[in-house]
Amino acid sequence: QQDPRIARISSAIRVIPDFPKPGIMFQDITTLLLDTKAFKDTIDLFVERYRDKNISVVAGVEARGFIFGPPIALAIGAKFVPMRKPNKLPGKVISEEYSLEYGTDIMEMHVGAVEAGERALVIDDLIATGGTLCAAVKLLERVGVHVVECACVIELLGLKGRERLGDRPLFVLVNST
Ligand code: AMP
Repeated sequence: QQDPRIARISSAIRVIPDFPKPGIMFQDITTLLLDTKAFKDTIDLFVERYRDKNISVVAGVEARGFIFGPPIALAIGAKFVPMRKPNKLPGKVISEEYSLEYGTDIMEMHVGAVEAGERALVIDDLIATGGTLCAAVKLLERVGVHVVECACVIELLGLKGRERLGDRPLFVLVNST
């Protein structure tokens, strides 16, 4: 039985065809942020799931993980760690290269933001191929952090992003094709 809040969240997400290029169905969460009830329900659903899981780190993936991560972190009493595009973080970083549809990108995290043995939740707005979330997971695991779960508002089915995460659990609110 699906939580009744999910339907409203799902309908608050706007789908824009052919953005940023032909063939892409862009899932626009800015309209979800305009719906005060749906936005609050989104955060509440994550908080209800993670509040008793002994999580000390919420790692948010640039850019839209920065929208959903901090309110969850505050509510569960965890710190927020930004996982950023290259050359944005001013301190010493560790980097992870990952593949995109065309070419590669790099994700960075500040050294010292987390300690070995901490328990993390990794959050982004959407999982497609899983490459982005996987890079965030690898950065955390390289420094000895246990990734308890990855979470997204939306999962694009058919791209096998979930498989790319291997054994790490993935929790999503809304499925899309
Ligand atoms: P991936 O690494 O393939 O799982 O892609 C996930 C990242 O790309 C997330 O940070 C998403 O915000 C973004 N993304 C990929 N596909 C879409 C889409 N159809 N609509 C909105 N964002 C997307």
